[in-house]
Amino acid sequence: MRVVADRAGWRAELEEARRQGSRVGLVPTMGALHPGHASLVSAARRRCDLVTTTIFVNPLQFGDAADLDAYPKVLDADLELLEPLGCDLVFAPSVAEMYPRHPAPARTTVHVEGAAVGFEGAGRPGHFDGVATVLALLFNLAGPCTAFFGEKDFQQLSVVRQMVEDLDLPVEVVGCPTVREEDGLAMSSRNVRLGPEGRVSARALSAALAAGIEALGSGSVTAAEAAMAAVLEAEAGVEPIYAAVVDPATMATPESAAAGDELRLLVAASVDGVRLLDNLPGRLGPA
Ligand code: AMP
Repeated sequence: MRVVADRAGWRAELEEARRQGSRVGLVPTMGALHPGHASLVSAARRRCDLVTTTIFVNPLQFGDAADLDAYPKVLDADLELLEPLGCDLVFAPSVAEMYPRHPAPARTTVHVEGAAVGFEGAGRPGHFDGVATVLALLFNLAGPCTAFFGEKDFQQLSVVRQMVEDLDLPVEVVGCPTVREEDGLAMSSRNVRLGPEGRVSARALSAALAAGIEALGSGSVTAAEAAMAAVLEAEAGVEPIYAAVVDPATMATPESAAAGDELRLLVAASVDGVRLLDNLPGRLGPA
């Protein structure tokens, strides 16, 4: 496994690999890797010839400087996790390498609407523009590739699919299922910031989704949203942020959903001051 920190070196290696007929698999991450990230690398390994993981904590997608500072940075441990998974090439650039003008405001950014509106887009202004901007830069450096993203960040996955479609980028986007702890909590680099009690309370997010899926099966979107909200509200130490059912492609409220349609249930809550997200698919049952 090779590790490069410069854009030109990374771009050149991927160009050379493609020239030799390799299909490039790209796994963008912010590091502090866990089995959820590992599942993306393994999916890339199965489908592609050259697997490259990027590790870059992107300052443009953090609204809050304290959240950026608190984000775990553990490159050596990340490399140890990646090596046995068969990752071929790691791109771990500095902020100066990615954004030479930083911290001066970025001159050119990608602005996303549509799937980026509401939910994380509402709670974290500028977040998805920051995500889209760094991914546009990474996709441009990487060139034609298959890129792997977790369904864990479902709105992000929808925003990436939308950007790739709208800008006709030469990237195939693959979504991979959420990897969970044994008690159902979605794995996240942020979970280490939960205290022991918060860690127990955090189970309410996956429990809320289970309640929502059941209520959705009885034919009502509003009943599903209410069921999820009730589970979050009942748990001490959990501050609900949203509980919603959306059209998975557009992230909009499903105005004209019919029985049998697959929708997406989303929850977000703050636990110990940590913003936790989760989501699952659910099918609307007959009313
Ligand atoms: P991050 O490092 O948080 O930016 O995440 C990098 C990628 O890993 C994103 O595509 C995430 O959706 C994905 N990811 C994070 N947690 C999980 C998880 N528990 N299961 C599957 N994918 C995940």
